[in-house]
Amino acid sequence: MKNEELLLEDYLNGKDLLNTLTHEEIGDDHLYTGVKTPMKPDAFEQTDEEKKKQIAGLFAQIMDVMGLDLTDDSLKGTPVRVAKMYIDEIFSGLDPANKPKVALFDNKYQYNQMLVEKDITFYSNCEHHFVPIIGKAHVAYISSGKVIGLSKLNRIVQYYAKRPQVQERLTNQIGLELQSILDTEDVAVIIDAKHLCVSSRGIKDDTSATVTSFYGGKFNTPEKIQELYNYINN
Ligand SMILES: [Zn+2]
Repeated sequence: MKNEELLLEDYLNGKDLLNTLTHEEIGDDHLYTGVKTPMKPDAFEQTDEEKKKQIAGLFAQIMDVMGLDLTDDSLKGTPVRVAKMYIDEIFSGLDPANKPKVALFDNKYQYNQMLVEKDITFYSNCEHHFVPIIGKAHVAYISSGKVIGLSKLNRIVQYYAKRPQVQERLTNQIGLELQSILDTEDVAVIIDAKHLCVSSRGIKDDTSATVTSFYGGKFNTPEKIQELYNYINN
């Protein structure tokens, strides 16, 4: 898709900058390298069951290295629980097979103003530290003749949240996906989130939040952005 390529190019142009930084600096500054989640070409050659088995074994090793007693009744099931949670729940959005199936309907009511679905609570995980990002997403679009079921907007947010993420990428992935599905540039996404890697470790700032936005097409005017914020803050 054209828009996605443009964004990718922007980020690729910044790559030299990233290369001058250490991994530690990239992680702590939460920089990211592109709009697409970086995946290996063979990412889906193993079945989910094979992946869970392998992750459980590896996680048991991490616990063992840290000195935890894996024969303890409370701990012995943890590696399997973590593996299932990674594949079936919190990182299930890595697998395109789990992408929500979306049906579009004709805009029979001829509603041609912005539609805003606000306060969509999501849980994601920071790809630099694998600790939670907790936030709210607000998504909006102006119909180009098709409309989408409201719950699908929610499901698209959840699908992209269930990946190791950085907030900027999450925002852009949701925005680009909605533009593609709804066949319109007129899409906006605002995400307001707390990063546990900022509040519970590192700088240990408990009060800050991060706000990111994606404004496409008709949303790129101060009036539309103001209108959108009025809906959100209502
Ligand atoms: Zn982090």
